[in-house]
Amino acid sequence: MVNPRLVIATGNDHKVTEIASILAHSLPQSALDGIVSLAHYQHDEPVEDGVTFEENALIKARSAVQATGLPSLADDSGLSVDVLGGSPGVFSARWCGHHGDDVANRDLVLAQLADVPDRHRGAQFVCAMALVFPDGREKTVRGTVPGHLLRQARGEGGFGYDPIFIPTGHTLTTAEMSAAEKNSLSHRGAALRALTDDLQQVLLPSGR
Ligand code: IMP
Repeated sequence: MVNPRLVIATGNDHKVTEIASILAHSLPQSALDGIVSLAHYQHDEPVEDGVTFEENALIKARSAVQATGLPSLADDSGLSVDVLGGSPGVFSARWCGHHGDDVANRDLVLAQLADVPDRHRGAQFVCAMALVFPDGREKTVRGTVPGHLLRQARGEGGFGYDPIFIPTGHTLTTAEMSAAEKNSLSHRGAALRALTDDLQQVLLPSGR
């Protein structure tokens, strides 16, 4: 890897690609070349025991700084349902009681909302991003996509709660959209855009 300047604190290469493709709108390729995945470093997975998206993003970013000595970017995301008081929230990936079963997670949300009329089915996707520096500076930002929940799953794309979520102003679920269309309105994109200036300084230290 060539002169890494920023670590993305995830072992998920798909996320690194998605983040780099969103940043490609505001940064030249030479800057994107400085982004590296934490998967390239020896590290222990931290326990994500925060109770907010921001806390969990900070836990991941701080741990990546410790492992690499480099500025680190981490995200934490999920679905927040109005009538569930913001849940599943930080429990989005394990709402059904165990980790990573997307179908069981969304089936449980649909069952919980079975009697809830359409006008009260508001929800949002939320993404917190944390940027942490080796000198201790920390910044968190949040991106959201407002929308509402269907009564049954629709669409094959995306992951997680995408097949039951329609963003406000749209008619398709995020599972029925192309990846490019979903990225253009995504909570991760919104959070990253809020960090554009900071990331430019990290990735283009000479002021571009
Ligand atoms: P993570 O931050 O990638 O670990 O996401 C936590 C959980 O939130 C995922 O397992 C999904 O259930 C849900 N989630 C986060 N982002 C999205 C999205 O863009 N679409 C659908 N579900 C999402």
